Amino acid sequence: VKKTLKIYWSRRDFRLLDNPALNWAVKESQKTKSSFLPLFILEDYMTCGNAQFQFGYPARFFISRALPIFAENFSEFLIIKGTVLKTFKKITEKFDVEIFVNEDIHPDFYKQIKKIKEANLKIHVSPDMMTVDKNTKTGQNNLYSVFTPFKKSVWLDFVNKAQKTLPKINLTKTKFIDHSEIITIKNIFKKQIIENKTEKIWAQCSKKRTILIGKNEIDLDDYVEKPDFTNCYFSENEALKLFKKYLKGGLMADYNKNRNSLEDDVIGKTSKMSTGLAWGLISARTLTNLMQKHFNDKFENPFSNRASLGALTFISELIWREFYKYLLYHNPKLLKTEFQQKFRHKIKWADNKIAISRFLKWIKGETGYPIVDASMKQIEKTAWMHNRSRMIVASILTKNFGVDWRWGQEFFRATLIDLDEASNNGGWQWGASVGADPKPIRIFNPELQARNYDKNQQYQKKWLGQKFSKEKYIKPIIEHVVARKRALIRYNFKLQNKR
Ligand SMILES: Cc1cc2nc3c(=O)[nH]c(=O)nc-3n(C[C@H](O)[C@H](O)[C@H](O)COP(=O)(O)OP(=O)(O)OC[C@H]3O[C@@H](n4cnc5c(N)ncnc54)[C@H](O)[C@@H]3O)c2cc1C
Repeated sequence: VKKTLKIYWSRRDFRLLDNPALNWAVKESQKTKSSFLPLFILEDYMTCGNAQFQFGYPARFFISRALPIFAENFSEFLIIKGTVLKTFKKITEKFDVEIFVNEDIHPDFYKQIKKIKEANLKIHVSPDMMTVDKNTKTGQNNLYSVFTPFKKSVWLDFVNKAQKTLPKINLTKTKFIDHSEIITIKNIFKKQIIENKTEKIWAQCSKKRTILIGKNEIDLDDYVEKPDFTNCYFSENEALKLFKKYLKGGLMADYNKNRNSLEDDVIGKTSKMSTGLAWGLISARTLTNLMQKHFNDKFENPFSNRASLGALTFISELIWREFYKYLLYHNPKLLKTEFQQKFRHKIKWADNKIAISRFLKWIKGETGYPIVDASMKQIEKTAWMHNRSRMIVASILTKNFGVDWRWGQEFFRATLIDLDEASNNGGWQWGASVGADPKPIRIFNPELQARNYDKNQQYQKKWLGQKFSKEKYIKPIIEHVVARKRALIRYNFKLQNKR
């Protein structure tokens, strides 16, 4: 008889606290006295030089740092280079295997699960992609397509689930796979076993940064520098520490005031939890649970005037994140197609050559709109960008420059450390006014945006340095008034006189 083995297949969930699949796998191995093995499958798409499937340069850098730290929690943790189905099939030849995995938003995930099930392997998927029910429907049994009613409908479920976070898993009573069994597995995979060290994982990763823009491949190294990851974090402990500090330091209480200001971003007043959430270093439930404890409030009423407005606004943002996952889960085509049918194949983007030239100026931060250029410098230097800046640069690229939002989405995919495929897609569709946003069209005026959100120009000065002085700054590649008129035509909107 084959020995039984419970496998925790880690994907984007590098944490011990509130980790449903890990919890289930460990419990099951304890209950059945089976051996337990956590593993990560390093697939080619994760290590190759383009950003296809969410693994841009920062993502590759991230896993090479995060995996060894996460692995330290376990007495055995394997990184196997290969494809998912083959890997599990090979282990199944020697062991009686049961696999436990957390649900993941990437559309490819479900294809993989289907293949695994078709091969008759035993796999359990924990519903960890969203906090709330991914099949939430309206009273008429339709999917929600607008954020506010969605939020109202899921709010209570969200805050209730946050109260039931799973405790940190205790691994001391767990019987890990023993030495001879590990040797058996290592013999199956031989060179496919990657040593659990940053330099070894990093050595597997391409350092290239190519992106596919329409039919053109662009090497980002020709245009922008590689980011400096000094201010990034890579572990569950760091994420937890950062968030606790955010609560204790009083920033959460004022989140509603802080979240939109670029001037405040110079001192860093948003939570920076996006990296932790995107990689599963921390769950949205845990964040909310910590807030509930800190404010001694369950936040059951989103309109309560006694609750902290900062906390309510923060929860609302976490529900935006849920909403984008919900939209993408129910319609994976959104990665390539406009949410609003009326815009599908209808917008006449700028001609390829002109679009490429504007796109390159945009990525280099040479558009002549200082607020846009500063934002593009922020992402170039840090692999992260403030939400207000993301909205501004998305609006300018699509509306002012007539560049297809899919190009912007791809660039962010390649350059963000907190890349979340659903939020990125939702953000780009929102920025291009083709997404789930009831407002017909938003054309941001970069000057007004700068005036409203960077009054004393501290953000622009920080990222543009010497180059920035209001009077002498390079001219915009297209004046906003002209760009705005063209955008209205492009989107087939009647010309209005408003600026
Ligand atoms: C064009 C565009 C692309 C984006 N791409 C991504 C992405 O790839 N990954 C990503 O995590 N976020 C993305 N966002 C959303 C948002 O910009 C970031 O979540 C936020 O800037 C992260 O900083 P923070 O953690 O300090 O946020 P905070 O302001 O502290 O917010 C807390 C958390 O709430 C969630 N959140 C906040 N704002 C939004 C929002 N507008 N949409 C969805 N969730 C939100 C995030 O999980 C965030 O970590 C994008 C927005 C736009 C407009």
